[in-house]
Amino acid sequence: MRGSRVSYVFPIYNETGNIDLLYRTVDEVVRGLPYEIELIFVNDGSRDDSLAKLRALAADDPRVKVLDFARNYGHQIAVTAGLDASTGDAVIIMDSDLQDPPRVSIDLLAKWEEGWDVVYAQRRSRKDTPFKKATAAAFYKGLRYMSEVDIPANTGDFRLLDRRVVDELSKYKERDRFLRGMVSFIGFDQTAVQFDRDERHSGESGYPLGKMITFATDGIMGFSTFPLKIISRIGFVAAAFSVVGIVYVLVMKLFVPQVVVAGWAFIVLSILLMGGLQLIMLGILGGYVGRIYRQVQQRPLYALRDERPSPVALVTPIA
Ligand code: UDP
Ligand code: MG
Repeated sequence: MRGSRVSYVFPIYNETGNIDLLYRTVDEVVRGLPYEIELIFVNDGSRDDSLAKLRALAADDPRVKVLDFARNYGHQIAVTAGLDASTGDAVIIMDSDLQDPPRVSIDLLAKWEEGWDVVYAQRRSRKDTPFKKATAAAFYKGLRYMSEVDIPANTGDFRLLDRRVVDELSKYKERDRFLRGMVSFIGFDQTAVQFDRDERHSGESGYPLGKMITFATDGIMGFSTFPLKIISRIGFVAAAFSVVGIVYVLVMKLFVPQVVVAGWAFIVLSILLMGGLQLIMLGILGGYVGRIYRQVQQRPLYALRDERPSPVALVTPIA
C-alpha cells in the first residue's frame, strides 16, 4: 500500500438536499477500503442549512471535519482550503451534488496504488444542458490551443492527488485559481479513469453563467498570454491597413483633387470598428492588470469562522 490515510474534500455551497445522501453513499463506498478515512467538508458560505447538517454529521462521526468559510469565496477556494486542511497520503476532490459518483473513487485509489500521482476522473458522458456541454467543449478546445499546459479534455476537479502533489499545490499562492490547470502544470505521473457523470441530485447549480465566464477567464489568463499576443497582432494588422489608407487619401488629395474622396459611412464604420477593437483590447489588458493587482495585495485566500477567538475570550476580566 502507498499510504494508510485517504482524505476526501467536498466543497459545499447550498447543498442541504445532497449532504445526507452524499455522506451515506461515501460512507458505504469507503467502508470496504483498507484506509483510515478523513471526510473534509468546506462550507463555502451556504445560505441554507448545509452547515447545521454538516455539524450534525461531525458530531456523530469523528472522520468528519467541517471548515466554515466566513463568506462565499467560491468553489476553487473551497477546494483549496480542503486541500490545506487534509492530512491524507492521497486526497480525493469531489463535487457534493452527487454528479461525481463516489464509487468512482475506488477506481481512482486503485490507480493511485499502481503508482500514479494524479488520477483524474474523465467524463465519458455527462448529463448537463446542451448549452453547458457546448460551451465547455469550446472552452477546453480553446484553452488547449492557447495555453502552455496540457489540460486533459472532459475533466473537472474530480480527481485524486497524491500527498506530494497536494504539498506542491500548497506553494501556489495565486488568487484567481484554476486548480485543474495548476495540477496539470505541476506534473508528476498523471492518468485518467473514465466515468459517466450523473445529474445533480438536488438543488441548483452554484455556477450560473457569470461565474462560469469568470472561471473560464481564470483558466485562460492564468495559463496563457496568448490574448496579449493576439491583441498586438491585431494592432499590427490595423496599423498596416491604416498606412494603405493614408497613402490612398494623400495620393487622391495631391494628384486627383477634382475627385471628392468618398464618404462619411466609411469614416463612421472605421471609427466604430477601431473603437470597439480598442475597448476589447483594453479589457484584455485590464483583465491581466486586475490579476496583478489582486496578487500584489497578498490577501489571504479565505477566512474560517472557527478560527476566530470566541467572544468570551475577547472580554477582558475587570480587575
Ligand atoms: N460550490 C462551492 N462554492 C460555490 C459554488 C459551488 O463550493 O460558490 C460547490 C458546490 O457545492 C459543488 C461544487 O462546488 O459541490 C460544484 O458546483 P455545482 O455543482 O454547482 O457546479 P456545476 O456542476 O453546475 O458546474
Ligand atoms: Mg454540479
